[in-house]
Amino acid sequence: GLPPYDPGNVFARILRSEIPAKRIYEDEHALAFHDIAPKAPVHVLVIPKGEYVSVADFSAQAGAEAVAGFWRAVGEVARQLGLEGPGYRVLTNMGPDGGQEVPHFHVHIFGGRALGPMLS
Ligand code: 5GP
Repeated sequence: GLPPYDPGNVFARILRSEIPAKRIYEDEHALAFHDIAPKAPVHVLVIPKGEYVSVADFSAQAGAEAVAGFWRAVGEVARQLGLEGPGYRVLTNMGPDGGQEVPHFHVHIFGGRALGPMLS
């Protein structure tokens, strides 16, 4: 089963403004900020405001409005970053094999260069 949500995780602390982040977008459903260790010229994280451990938790538990609002925010952030023309990659890591480090559901947006094939 899924672990319980840990309200002390680093993204929860960013949501509560207890620690700083380079915020670029916020609405009622989502917050976006730059990754602290960027792995592409553009590397942004988008998180829902609700307490979901991972995509599994979000998919199973979030309401339709929260899910739609989150994905609308993902697209809007990419658009505002100028990535819609050239394109970009959206990725989420889940659990140990997925390499998830922070237990608050988030998607990565990578862009700013041709990214090549997955998992390279
Ligand atoms: P994942 O959980 O998807 O494997 O990766 C978590 C991501 O969060 C990593 O890319 C890491 O660089 C980023 N990250 C970890 N701690 C912080 C932080 O305190 N601030 C920001 N902006 N990013 C963080």
